[in-house]
Amino acid sequence: MIRIAIANQKGGVGKTTTAINVATALAATGWKTLLIDLDPQGNASTGVGVSASAREASSYDVLVDRVPVSQCVMSTRIPGLDLLPATVDLSGAEVELVNADDRAHRLQRALRAPDLGYDVCLIDCPPSLGLLTLNALTAADTLLVPLQCEFFALEGLSQLLTTVERVQQRFNPDLGIIGIALTMFDRRNRLTEQVSEDVRSCLGQLIFETTIPRNVRLSEAPSHGVPALIYDHACAGSRAYMALARELITRLPEKRIAA
Ligand code: ADP
Ligand code: MG
Repeated sequence: MIRIAIANQKGGVGKTTTAINVATALAATGWKTLLIDLDPQGNASTGVGVSASAREASSYDVLVDRVPVSQCVMSTRIPGLDLLPATVDLSGAEVELVNADDRAHRLQRALRAPDLGYDVCLIDCPPSLGLLTLNALTAADTLLVPLQCEFFALEGLSQLLTTVERVQQRFNPDLGIIGIALTMFDRRNRLTEQVSEDVRSCLGQLIFETTIPRNVRLSEAPSHGVPALIYDHACAGSRAYMALARELITRLPEKRIAA
């Protein structure tokens, strides 16, 4: 199983939208996919049609009470896509785990269970670099960073990359960065165009060729409880996420790793 964390400590940059739609695209290509919601806000869970009242076991149980992942996942209406949902109690997990020696490794250990049966899992992180994101980065093989094309984008990115280095040194020497996806690109806005050019000249290959446009269908889909890829598979946002998923697959060291 390939484990991909989707992280950026800034809120509202497109992490959850990316997690939901890339997960859906991967599932559509036939990969058994697990979406892990690690944000107490639970937007990824809602976005794949699992309302708060439908969630029983959750990522909180896995992290805090060490319940096996297999006992906490739910299927979704999307064929090939399962969900480990988040519940609001996850917001207390960082405090509850503060004295646990293995607090950074809880998710890593949980995902090493041999019988999970997924080809890939995507971990949607909360907007901070706290213990939940640390668990995701420690558990992951690689990191996908959604980056909004705006003025302070690069500053936030350097902080994230410093965190990645620390995680590599202390917790997970094998953590890679599969790429940075530019999100909410608006070609009519000079600033986003400029930021996109700057970021590409600065970070080169690390940036995915696919850029995600600002697209209203992407923001409408969650209120219908379906990924944009299903809500309107032909819209510009959906097509961009399909292209991003294809690019992601070509960047993975092995096309498909047996579960
Ligand atoms: P994060 O998880 O980083 O906080 P979200 O994915 O939840 O970010 O996105 C923040 C808001 O912006 C949401 O309301 C979402 O629907 C919307 N959004 C995300 N990506 C796009 C896009 N490319 N175009 C338009 N709206 C978007
Ligand atoms: Mg989010």
